[in-house]
Amino acid sequence: MASFEPVYIKAFQSGLLHEKVKSANKILNSCVLCPRECRINRIEGQLGICKTGKNAWLNAYKAHLGEETPLIGKNGSGTFFFTHCNLLCIFCQNYELSHEGRGKEISNSEMAEMMLILQEAECPNIHFISPTHVVPQILSALEIAVQKGLSIPLVYNSSGYESIETLKILDGIIDIYMPDFKFWDPDISEKLCSAYDYPEKARAAIIEMHRQVGDLVLDESGKAHRGLLLRHLIMPSGLAGTQNIMHFVAQEISPNTYVNIMPQFKPHGRSYEVKELMNCITEDDYADTLKAAREAGIHRIDPRPGKVFMGF
Ligand code: SF4
Repeated sequence: MASFEPVYIKAFQSGLLHEKVKSANKILNSCVLCPRECRINRIEGQLGICKTGKNAWLNAYKAHLGEETPLIGKNGSGTFFFTHCNLLCIFCQNYELSHEGRGKEISNSEMAEMMLILQEAECPNIHFISPTHVVPQILSALEIAVQKGLSIPLVYNSSGYESIETLKILDGIIDIYMPDFKFWDPDISEKLCSAYDYPEKARAAIIEMHRQVGDLVLDESGKAHRGLLLRHLIMPSGLAGTQNIMHFVAQEISPNTYVNIMPQFKPHGRSYEVKELMNCITEDDYADTLKAAREAGIHRIDPRPGKVFMGF
């Protein structure tokens, strides 16, 4: 990463990062970090939908090769798997973490040390999975880590269920946004995530993320430095509304959006509650989704060979 400087370095030097740490932590007193707007005092230990108080909870941190091609380099993306979640899809593949709370509480200093360990392991980035409900803790840890030499870009990998005010706090801090766009139909997102407003919030969030960082920029080795990388999980029975999503991305974001189309859906968690979720993704579903993306005008599709699961 010799010639690339993450945006948070300037934010730290100018004092902006410190201001952002203060703004973000203030929100914990009456939490509206995400569209759930629980308005509970997390500093005093009250818990909202994400069941997370003053400190973050973590399931694991590691160099992870199972991520998108531009993120992994030779050694794997430096990934934090946070416990709990603000969206809580009933079919979540990490149900034990997101719904059942598998993990342990960590301090901001411990998180900072973990970031430095991953940098030392020559990971090309620090990659936060499900970070929305712990943005203040991430920023606090970042401020500690920068002072100790952290200098690799941050990846913000979220469900897309975001508040614009929280994303504005992250402006000038995050280099790579990696949101999912899961569903187009509010009734389906209400049924699967108890979030009728998910499509509307995800559209606004992805527009704001793209405004901040633009299309994904790769270096000569194919490694991502900055920009938007969109994920789309193929859902059984057409539940995702893929055609509408791809049309939106091409028309309202950019036809140059880098998209990872993910065929790995399996009926985890409480999928048994919804009949359509008990179907698996077929090779035809995968081919149809690629076709819908290309027909919408999307031409940067993550080249990892799609492993389609035909059964379980
Ligand atoms: S981050 Fe958690 S407590 Fe805060 S509004 Fe969202 S779900 Fe509620």
